[in-house]
Amino acid sequence: MREHLAVLTSLGADARPVRRPEELADVEGLVLPGGESSVIDKLARAFDLFDPIRGAIADGMPMYGTCAGLILLADRIDGAITGQRTFGGIDARVARNVFGSQTASFETDLDVPALGSPPVHAVFIRAPAVIEWGPDAEPLASLPDGRVVAIEQGALLGTAFHPESTGETRFHQRFLDHVDARRGVGASAL
Ligand code: GLN
Repeated sequence: MREHLAVLTSLGADARPVRRPEELADVEGLVLPGGESSVIDKLARAFDLFDPIRGAIADGMPMYGTCAGLILLADRIDGAITGQRTFGGIDARVARNVFGSQTASFETDLDVPALGSPPVHAVFIRAPAVIEWGPDAEPLASLPDGRVVAIEQGALLGTAFHPESTGETRFHQRFLDHVDARRGVGASAL
């Protein structure tokens, strides 16, 4: 979370943590960090944030999820614990912990055409992968075996890896561009 705040601040955003519904009502975009998706799900419900976040997604609020955050933005998940839910919004099936114990954590350079060059140095930590997606979801990057590890649907962006820990700022910039674009639409509608 601290790393996301640092990247967003370095890009000129007024970034702050969101832990309560009132705080969510006060922001124009939301980053869902890594961690343990089932725990984030439980905490979101305990802090009365689950339904407000779903509502914000339905309203078109831009969001960026890394790793567990990607799981939380997927409509469907494989490997969920009993009762685990997601906010959803990206028409995709995301499998948790798909890289097995041998390769649970690894780093690789990923070609992300939407971001141009250089490639993204991606750090995967007990990461998920997108194994199926619908026509409205656009894969942005995949591993050589074809598993998708970055995906976007409208203003929702998700990566299975952690750009915030390697000095990579282009995904966060893309998220902020979604925030700006949404603000622009709002302004022109006034
Ligand atoms: N394995 C975690 C999960 O399934 C995600 C790991 C991460 O966010 N680095 O929720």
